[in-house]
Amino acid sequence: MRKKYLKISKRFFVASLVALITLGVSACGKDEVKETTTNAESESEEPDIVFATAVYDEKKGVVVRVTPGFTGDAKEVFVIKDADGNVVPITDAKVVADTNITFTLGEEMDLYGEYTINYGNVTHSILLPVLYSREEFEDAYTYEGEDLGATWTKDATAFKLWAPTATAVSINFYESGDESADDLISTFDMTADVNGTWKAIKNGNLDGTYYTYSVTVKGSTVEACDPYARATGVNGKRAMVIDLDATNPEGWEADTNPNAGINITDAILYELHIRDLSSDESSGITNTGKFIGLTETGTTTADGISTGLDYLKDLGITHLHILPMYDYGSVDESKLNNPQFNWGYDPVNYNVPEGSYSTDPSDGAVRVKEAKEMVMSLHNAGISVVMDVVYNHVYNAEEFCFNKIVPGYFSRISDYGVYSAGSGCGNDTASERNMVSKYIVDSVVYWANEYHIDGFRFDLAGLIDTDTLNKAIEKVHETHPDVIFYAEGWDMKTDVTKKGYTLATQSNSTLIPEMSFFNDYYRDTLKGGDNSKGYATGNPAGYNAVKNMIKGYVSWSKNPSQTINYASCHDGYTIFDKITSTNSSATMAEKIAMNKLSAAMVMTSQGTPFIMSGEEMLRSKVNADGSFSSNSYKSPDSVNSLKWSTLSDAAYMDVHDYYKGLIAFRKAHAGLRMMTADEVNANLTVMSDTPAKVVACHIKGGANGETSKGLFVIYNGTSSEATVTLPAGNWTIYINEEKAGTTALGTANATVNVAKVSAMVLVQE
Ligand code: CA
Repeated sequence: MRKKYLKISKRFFVASLVALITLGVSACGKDEVKETTTNAESESEEPDIVFATAVYDEKKGVVVRVTPGFTGDAKEVFVIKDADGNVVPITDAKVVADTNITFTLGEEMDLYGEYTINYGNVTHSILLPVLYSREEFEDAYTYEGEDLGATWTKDATAFKLWAPTATAVSINFYESGDESADDLISTFDMTADVNGTWKAIKNGNLDGTYYTYSVTVKGSTVEACDPYARATGVNGKRAMVIDLDATNPEGWEADTNPNAGINITDAILYELHIRDLSSDESSGITNTGKFIGLTETGTTTADGISTGLDYLKDLGITHLHILPMYDYGSVDESKLNNPQFNWGYDPVNYNVPEGSYSTDPSDGAVRVKEAKEMVMSLHNAGISVVMDVVYNHVYNAEEFCFNKIVPGYFSRISDYGVYSAGSGCGNDTASERNMVSKYIVDSVVYWANEYHIDGFRFDLAGLIDTDTLNKAIEKVHETHPDVIFYAEGWDMKTDVTKKGYTLATQSNSTLIPEMSFFNDYYRDTLKGGDNSKGYATGNPAGYNAVKNMIKGYVSWSKNPSQTINYASCHDGYTIFDKITSTNSSATMAEKIAMNKLSAAMVMTSQGTPFIMSGEEMLRSKVNADGSFSSNSYKSPDSVNSLKWSTLSDAAYMDVHDYYKGLIAFRKAHAGLRMMTADEVNANLTVMSDTPAKVVACHIKGGANGETSKGLFVIYNGTSSEATVTLPAGNWTIYINEEKAGTTALGTANATVNVAKVSAMVLVQE
């Protein structure tokens, strides 16, 4: 998700907050009128005020805000009661400006209790302080076991749920996973166990049985899915007991990361949405929009050009970064005959694959099986799999199963009931709480173990604490040392509910050394900010910044291992649309030159290169009105899909070949892939004698195992050809304005001419 978008959304939040409070009042008022009418002593008097908020503050007492106009003796006309109807004595009441009233109580409130305040025939519940982040709560209710959820064996299934505020919990077993089906089989009580957990063992083979929990808190019972569900029915409302081993494709036990042993800077990251690969009919892929669309081989366009899995394998990428593929809420899995699209940054079940990407969302085992088949096919093609994970917020905080079972525990909510919303999505995850932190760690470990996921991209990690993410990295690396981690580290305002926590932002990168971060400084210098041009796209003014970029140096990290270099991702314009929109008079050839320079910079800078899928075929996202989409999160397939047929155009295929050549060149030269600032300082020199605004560097032979005698990298973002002085010796050109790859394109010594708006890379052999 994107920084700028979030700022706009925050303003939205202020408006929605006002609406939330208003709604709260009317909802509470409506429920309570019936009850209090019978108790009302003077039925003729209608109150002329309503409550806006009522909060218990342990130091002050009950603090109430009412609509303007209150007069009278507050101590006499308001009544506070506990859940059993006992009156709590009010010893004093202070009224300020006829709206704010503070009641001093004759006794302390039970913080686990439930209270109301009454005026005339209006009753309002009193918000009690949130206890979840207090040490006493955490000490009593931190559960460290590994058995949460439903653990299947063929003879019995063990259920374990963390629900410390519940007074009763039962399991409901169902025939189907459809929430609307009236097919309850039976219910089964759970018994309270250690640290706020509940347990039950049900005999028999429950594989394929759907279930929910009924949890009673403060007298109300809610039904919820299992936060640790491994499989669910349609739309993720009912969990399913599953024999996970039975979902493994043949040969799964031997399946491993095909790029094991490499450093993150050796990775070539390629970002893809599952649907985009196959939703244009030119893909030739049968399973449109499905996980298993990525298992199809031999698929081509009408002109016989390879698509899909074969294409990705041929391109040479090491890691396929898949946009959210866990169960999300914005696509209705029961209506898949209607084409629907969403990026999926709206989590519902964190440990379950998304149903709309399966061929049968109503059978919980199918999505699990097909997601594994996809991973295995990619592995067999030499491609590792990165999963985009969104632990920082959920689709709907109040409907999220964890928040239903332990009311509000998963989210940062103030004592006034207001959700912290730094994500711009209405609720921030309280990762600082022990059982949320454990949940995130468990989830990441689960995907790495069960689905053989080779990398994780954390959405808005700047809302998650560094302890949690360091723990996740450490735990995954215990068994999978080759898994890579990178994140959006934007710095956002969020109300962390405990003191002493640091968040996983770019500026805290030294506190989380094995996490890399998207480098927006790189991105914006390369292509410009909104509405402006960058070094590769028509304005070379940022050349001094490029001297840092070529070294993998950024203000928040000196180590190339922590920077993800990119020109475009799913957020914002595609690089080609960005070039077009800021260079309206440029010819196609000029725009392609900018795109090639942009790609060459990303692929030859120190750091880890990242490409949005389709960049290499001049991907464009065009809205129905002809404008370019900068935020296609729910745009139709026609906007988002990869247009494979464009590869029949020689100019498009030429750009594809250039990207493919850049990838091959990068893979052949370890000197482009150093991990540390120390290595860079010892081996890389940025030249000082280049023509104005032209940037060049020399990389020594042997650097990071570089097998050549040296590399010379030149970027010319200016509108004139540049003559650049070469270090002594003979040099062979492998990348120029036209071509890139591992085939020699010519030789040079002493000087070399570099075309306007182009990159050149030479090797000393
Ligand atoms: Ca879903």
